[in-house]
Amino acid sequence: MPHWLQAWLATYQDPMFWRFPMTGLAVSTGAFLAFALPLTALAAWDPVVLRRYKVQTAPFEVRTWLWPSLRQLGLNVVTVALLLTLSWPVLRLSGIHDGPWPAWWMVLAQLAFCVLLDDFLYYWMHRGLHRQRWLLKHVHSQHHRIRQCCAINGNYMHPLEYAATGALALVGPLLLGMSLPVLWVWLVLRQFEAADGHSGYVFPWNPGHLIPLYEGAGYHDFHHAKYQGNYAGFLPYLDRFFGSYAKGYLQWRAERHKPA
Ligand SMILES: [Zn+2]
Ligand SMILES: [Zn+2]
Repeated sequence: MPHWLQAWLATYQDPMFWRFPMTGLAVSTGAFLAFALPLTALAAWDPVVLRRYKVQTAPFEVRTWLWPSLRQLGLNVVTVALLLTLSWPVLRLSGIHDGPWPAWWMVLAQLAFCVLLDDFLYYWMHRGLHRQRWLLKHVHSQHHRIRQCCAINGNYMHPLEYAATGALALVGPLLLGMSLPVLWVWLVLRQFEAADGHSGYVFPWNPGHLIPLYEGAGYHDFHHAKYQGNYAGFLPYLDRFFGSYAKGYLQWRAERHKPA
């Protein structure tokens, strides 16, 4: 066996291969399903008493898109597992470490940094996916097949888009040289956004409102309904800066915040 191949294979004996990329992928996928499955069951049930919290009045498309979404999630996870395995010899050189939790204020600062950076990067990637015709037609349009989304549709997307979205989410942790537990918390938070942002419900008691400026599903739901605008993941402020709110979104938001 050539020397370079032996050296390459030896990198996989590092226990961090399992603790960093593989456990990270498992935590991320498990978190998405933990958030998305109950919210999807709720959408399938569609209780009358909760309909006033729905963003769109049109019925959910749970029956049509549940199995395609689960199948696509499986394919996407396998694709990302392969890409992480291939890139491990480079990833292991990063500062991600197996050390203890930092101080609580440092954890909060690191999570805030990841939310803001990821949102900024995602905004431009997403906007680019809409501007570049080939990418829109062959990659991003898959995610847009669904108009009345529910939570499980959050990761129904082309594997290329799934891998790129995952890579963006890793930029912050790689820059910070995060410890593993904080990385896992960040991945849980990111998948909460993917599930909740597609849930179709805006509940006043949503714990996501603890994140400043976070608006829940209304923001991204308008992106699916209008196909243009509202390009960020978590927070709507970037569309204000760059003039890209989805049509009708500001009126809807103003109505919601009007005193009853
Ligand atoms: Zn889009
Ligand atoms: Zn979406």
